[in-house]
Amino acid sequence: MVGAMMPVLRQKAAAFRRGGFLLCAVLFSLMFVAPVTADEVIPREPTGEEREQVLRDFVLANVEFTLLHEIGHALIHQFPIPLFGREEDAADQMATTFMILRHNTDIDPTAMNQLLMVSVEWLSEWEEEESTAGPSAHAFWDSHSLAIQRFYNVNCLLFGANPDELSFLLDTEMLPAERGFDCEQAYKQAFEANLWLLSSFARTESTLVPFDGIVVEYEATRNPRHEMVRGWLIESGLVQEIASRTTEFFAWPQPVRLFFDNCPGSAEAYYNRNVSEIVICYELLDVFLEKSEMFVSRSAVVVCANAGLRRLYGESFGCADRPED
Ligand SMILES: [Zn+2]
Repeated sequence: MVGAMMPVLRQKAAAFRRGGFLLCAVLFSLMFVAPVTADEVIPREPTGEEREQVLRDFVLANVEFTLLHEIGHALIHQFPIPLFGREEDAADQMATTFMILRHNTDIDPTAMNQLLMVSVEWLSEWEEEESTAGPSAHAFWDSHSLAIQRFYNVNCLLFGANPDELSFLLDTEMLPAERGFDCEQAYKQAFEANLWLLSSFARTESTLVPFDGIVVEYEATRNPRHEMVRGWLIESGLVQEIASRTTEFFAWPQPVRLFFDNCPGSAEAYYNRNVSEIVICYELLDVFLEKSEMFVSRSAVVVCANAGLRRLYGESFGCADRPED
């Protein structure tokens, strides 16, 4: 399961603490920074088209992570993959490294955005939990790592895969130095695990039949927001592409049904071992949409004044024309 949101999400969302979201606000402000003049960047409100693009990108990045996490569970179930840690952590690690490898972040710096959108989503979940009073704010007993740990875990692997490009992340709120020193080794181990996975269970000529794999199905949606997100998924081709690639890569012993469903009161995604089925609730996708709407509604922040973001995104937004702050 990639995560279960409390039914009181909407109420809790209103209680978000602004301070902890500075980074998120900065990230999302990138899309709304006007071309620079001599030494000044003037934030502006996004156009309707830009706004939808930002919402869409955020939702798709998090759907991708969710899908790959659940596919990780399916792989662990259907193939004899040894685990020395918790399955939830393994599925997170598989999803993160799959995304890093799928997007070639080592040669395409802009591809890092997608991973950052995933990690800041975990950060926002943590902030949301913290804003909830009472002893049940954090589920320390849960089989999943805490949201804040999942945030650092994604950042660590992303940094480990791109230590030169992302050196500015070190010793920041994104990646404390004490953790960062181990991340290149962590990514190396994860990368080698992926090589082992492919070499051990890849589809070969001798395993062409049966050609089982992941079959995508969408339940009819029941509200316009869900229908909008469903439209983005279909239009982007993201889900079908992941399903097709995963089907081609691995010699699945049995088919896996990937089902987008209505789950009133439950915003979650999970893999059901009993029937080899991945269920992604439209309600979870709505949570991603709510998060992105919240970020977009915040004031634009001058990205070029932030050394790290300037290095990561500056060229796309004209920061390179400015002298270093
Ligand atoms: Zn899971």
